[in-house]
Amino acid sequence: MDYKKLRQEMVKDQLITRGINDERVLATFYKVEREKFVPCDLQKDAYGDFPLSIGEGQTISQPYMVALMTQSLELKGCERVLEIGTGSGYQTAILAELTEEVYSVERIKSLSQKADSLLKKMGYSKVKIFVSDGTMGWEKYSPYERILVTAGAKQAPQPLINQLKDEGIMVIPVGSTYSQELKVFRKKKGRVRSKTVERCIFVPLIGKYGWSEGVGNE
Ligand code: SAH
Repeated sequence: MDYKKLRQEMVKDQLITRGINDERVLATFYKVEREKFVPCDLQKDAYGDFPLSIGEGQTISQPYMVALMTQSLELKGCERVLEIGTGSGYQTAILAELTEEVYSVERIKSLSQKADSLLKKMGYSKVKIFVSDGTMGWEKYSPYERILVTAGAKQAPQPLINQLKDEGIMVIPVGSTYSQELKVFRKKKGRVRSKTVERCIFVPLIGKYGWSEGVGNE
């Protein structure tokens, strides 16, 4: 498989044509090897225009959705970013390419461990990974200039709003367990305003300020 070629085609056909135009974001998608983050039997589909299963009932989002979320964060290079939902670690790697400090929380230990060792092996040694309920945020390193939630929430969890720095941006899918809207929240002088970017479908955000366990499996 010529993954480099597939990666270039993905950037052109799925990202640029749909309006991803931040040059730093595009350069990152040309670079990061998505095939390394999916199970062996799905590597041939790593650059397909759809989400893929990563085990434990979870998914790695479609490349376009990862790019749209990343672009919406408006990263310049020195922000402290909190990601909720490490999953495969692909989005984490993308963030680590684009900014100095990345903290990522995942509730499923096996996924977290796998992503942690892969990210270390790939040289992303500064990323900090934590197994916990990310709806509570990660108080220790707060406040964050950016927060990205990669699972579908009922509403923006209050601890995350609290841990977002003033002038900060939080990107989060909000809606029901089977369909959401990707929202961008901006905090200014303690107040948050949101705008909707796109319709989307994510696995549920499960936790104290999210859905209860078992939801979405019916
Ligand atoms: N960003 C990931 C997408 C993973 S899917 C990637 O690129 O592969 C969403 C992830 O969110 C799943 O791994 C799921 O276990 C996790 N998740 C759901 N609720 C969570 C919570 N409250 N805290 C942390 N992680 C959570």
